[in-house]
Amino acid sequence: MADKRDYYEVLGVDKSASDDEIKKAYRKMAKKYHPDLHPGDAEAEKNFKEVNEAYEVLSDSEKKSRYDQFGHAGVDPNYGAGGGGYGGGFGDFGDLGDIFGSFFGGGFGGGRRANPNAPRKGADTSTSVVLTFEEAAKGCNKKIKLTRIENCAECGGNGCEKGHNPTTCPTCNGSGQIYVTQRTPFGAMQSARACDSCRGTGKKIDHPCKVCNGKGRVRRTTEREINIPAGVDDGQYMNLRGGGDAGVNGGPNGDLRVEITVRPHPIFERDGFDVFCEIPVSFTQAALGADITVPTLDGKVKFSIHEGTQPGDEFKLKGKGIQRLNYSGRGDQYVKIIVEIPKNLNKSQMELLKKFEESADDNCYKKRKGFFDKVKEFFKD
Ligand SMILES: [Zn+2]
Ligand SMILES: [Zn+2]
Repeated sequence: MADKRDYYEVLGVDKSASDDEIKKAYRKMAKKYHPDLHPGDAEAEKNFKEVNEAYEVLSDSEKKSRYDQFGHAGVDPNYGAGGGGYGGGFGDFGDLGDIFGSFFGGGFGGGRRANPNAPRKGADTSTSVVLTFEEAAKGCNKKIKLTRIENCAECGGNGCEKGHNPTTCPTCNGSGQIYVTQRTPFGAMQSARACDSCRGTGKKIDHPCKVCNGKGRVRRTTEREINIPAGVDDGQYMNLRGGGDAGVNGGPNGDLRVEITVRPHPIFERDGFDVFCEIPVSFTQAALGADITVPTLDGKVKFSIHEGTQPGDEFKLKGKGIQRLNYSGRGDQYVKIIVEIPKNLNKSQMELLKKFEESADDNCYKKRKGFFDKVKEFFKD
């Protein structure tokens, strides 16, 4: 393996260069050696590859620190021994898009465009659905309206009127792209762009289908029923495979993402698969004990609160919560007791309560007694 140049030297920066300086240097060097600006120049290609290799290491703080310590061996002992040329990883060089975008009319990497007739997956689409608390808890079937691109039913997707077929585009000979040689400040440059005549499809349609105007695809809004599983929660989404835009050239459909919004409930709140609610009872019910009615997802349930129930007392109804999504079993329901002190009493009610107060001793109010015992203790001497 030939001796490799120092990465800092390759980019023409100091070892102390900041990330920003490294990035700037990389852009400058990448522009200088880019193979599309030097078609057929093996030296430029080699330099370009070297620049990218250097940047890949120096722009990654972890790799950079290993390189600083151990040199090339620290990054990868085999680095650069083989290498597939610059073509392999264009997807990674997003930054070059801004450098070359203006020369290439936005289409960087056009020379490596995939065959226009190759199958491609359709685009993913998304929609949203609003559920009631109960629908989310129990699951439901929901009709949703969705707009997506489908293959034209009239022409079966080939874009032609019945009885006709597409022919090969004579402008690009079916490749879907045309090559242009331009003079630029960097010299003669060959670039590829989508063929204007066939819009990159490689096909010519002499008798276009009247429904899709020869596109082979139409945007359609349809209604579809989807099954929402029990237990979904606000902010979650479902992915429906194949529910998105139709694939191209026989490729698979994209997916449909259904985002879920759950409306708040007037009585219930939810945390995970547990349901919470508060139930107000009168102070006499709390004192005497009472049978109360508790609303649950399954309907009303009778529950006896015991004599002397205190404000904030909580009880649990096991298994009355929400169906666990993708699992068996349900969460629980927690009920918190709110004790309501009566207001707007009339005279005779007040008399009754006064009488009651006179009759009540410390035994009825242990908390209050305990507290005043402590107060007495505190102030004694
Ligand atoms: Zn059609
Ligand atoms: Zn063409």
